[in-house]
Amino acid sequence: MPSVFTHEFNTPAFKGKVSFSTGLFINGQFVDGSDNTTIDVINPTNGKVVTSVSEATPKDVDIAVEAAQKAFDTVWGLNAPGATRSTLMGKLATLMQENADELAALEALDNGKTFNFARNADIAGSIDCIRYYAGWADKVTGQVLETTEAKLTYTRHEPIGVVGQIIPWNFPLLMMSWKLGPALACGNTIVLKPSEFTPLTAIKMCHLMNEAGFPPGVINVLTGYGGTTGHAISSHMKIEKVAFTGSTLVGRKIMESAAKSNLKNVTLELGGKSPNIIFDDADLEQAVNWAAFGIFYNHGQTCCAGSRIFVQEGIYDEFLKRFTEKTRSIKVGDPFAPETFQGPQVSEIQFNRIMSYIESGKQAGAKVEVGGERQGTEGYFIQPTVFTNVDPSMKIVQEEIFGPVGVVIKFKDEDDVIKQANDTVYGLAAAVFTQNLNRAINTAHRLKAGTAWVNCVNSLNANVPFGGFKQSGIGRELGEYALHNYTSVKAVHVNLGHKM
Ligand code: NAD
Ligand code: MN
Repeated sequence: MPSVFTHEFNTPAFKGKVSFSTGLFINGQFVDGSDNTTIDVINPTNGKVVTSVSEATPKDVDIAVEAAQKAFDTVWGLNAPGATRSTLMGKLATLMQENADELAALEALDNGKTFNFARNADIAGSIDCIRYYAGWADKVTGQVLETTEAKLTYTRHEPIGVVGQIIPWNFPLLMMSWKLGPALACGNTIVLKPSEFTPLTAIKMCHLMNEAGFPPGVINVLTGYGGTTGHAISSHMKIEKVAFTGSTLVGRKIMESAAKSNLKNVTLELGGKSPNIIFDDADLEQAVNWAAFGIFYNHGQTCCAGSRIFVQEGIYDEFLKRFTEKTRSIKVGDPFAPETFQGPQVSEIQFNRIMSYIESGKQAGAKVEVGGERQGTEGYFIQPTVFTNVDPSMKIVQEEIFGPVGVVIKFKDEDDVIKQANDTVYGLAAAVFTQNLNRAINTAHRLKAGTAWVNCVNSLNANVPFGGFKQSGIGRELGEYALHNYTSVKAVHVNLGHKM
């Protein structure tokens, strides 16, 4: 029997007791892993174990795939009208709304992000996303194509079947929602693996899915490690599609296992090293505030973080002065304290990884303008850090750090900055700050990125596609675009009288 997770929150932001059974969620039930092993859940503010959850094995993946296939063949897919799927998804969104504070508290406890951001960004965005795709579920349509009068030709957008979904720890519930929404709307059944670092909200969601009334087997959630459970999903012969969000390194492995198994369809949302360009004519105060939000939001653990900040030479000194002041003013601390902007990094591994990037910057001769050290002695807190004096060969300029570490680089003119900004293997997002309309649009168009922001950063909507150019990914999430990831198009030709 899987254990019950009970926790009493007594924080300024949230008070209350949560209690739900953990375990793998297969065929609508919570069960132990087949090896009876568990994974510790760690609170990143102090490194202590909060609870443990079941660990899935490849055998559990087989069991979940079987349940998902059965649901697809009987109660979901083409057996459930779009309106039925829509209603269930709408109910789920309502239940998420009713449990929003609890979900936010769980996210803050497990991931270390602040309760406020979890509540107002992660959870709110997750609810929007499920509701948005609930609206699509009865609007999946094909086309009737004109060929000849002797033939009726049309397309059907059929659900793929059992799909695998593997997600990261930086926005646990939000990434789960981005995956569930379009897959369910199109009628697929799901085997999803959350990150081993942040399993709690995914498990809570399973309880809400049961409460909403989803038939057993439609959604199966397996907490487990990447190299075992994740690999079993991406290489499974009966999973026809895998959607992955995570690092570019693991993205390659996913594609490789898909190629080596059944050539399953692959979509990837990967890393970034996004440029944030600030021209001389920008509203300086706004540019400083947005740039800080761009790199330090979610403790820098944001795939589209504006980690390379390019500033035009005329305002460089003034910008740097104000930006370092702004950085120094960021409150780092308890995720549940109302004044906190930045909590701990998610795990000891990430903490060490980020600290080694900071060390490499120092070694390479970059200048630390502010930060550059861990904060406190307990937990995984890192000071918001700004480097200058960098050159393009440095690791801190080229590689995704995924922490609160930005580099500020001076540039001359438009051509110069476009060349530098595009000098990266990534292409997830980019931002430009200027009050000149033509320059804003020209720059947005010339940057090689899946999202270009003008006078803002990190702005997302459920109905607007998100995804990467170059090594930042394949395919788009959100919006109507994401539906294309979850249907197989069938062309039907009906002969109306052509005799052989
Ligand atoms: P990660 O790649 O280490 O892990 C992501 C998921 O993959 C986890 O669930 C993990 O268990 C699983 N995994 C690990 N090895 C696997 C394997 N061999 N086979 C199958 N699955 C495996 O990434 P992370 O550290 O959890 O997340 C951070 C990364 O995610 C960053 O690079 C970030 O930029 C990226 N990210 C991208 C987006 C986007 O939309 N583009 C969004 C969020 C995060
Ligand atoms: Mn955790």
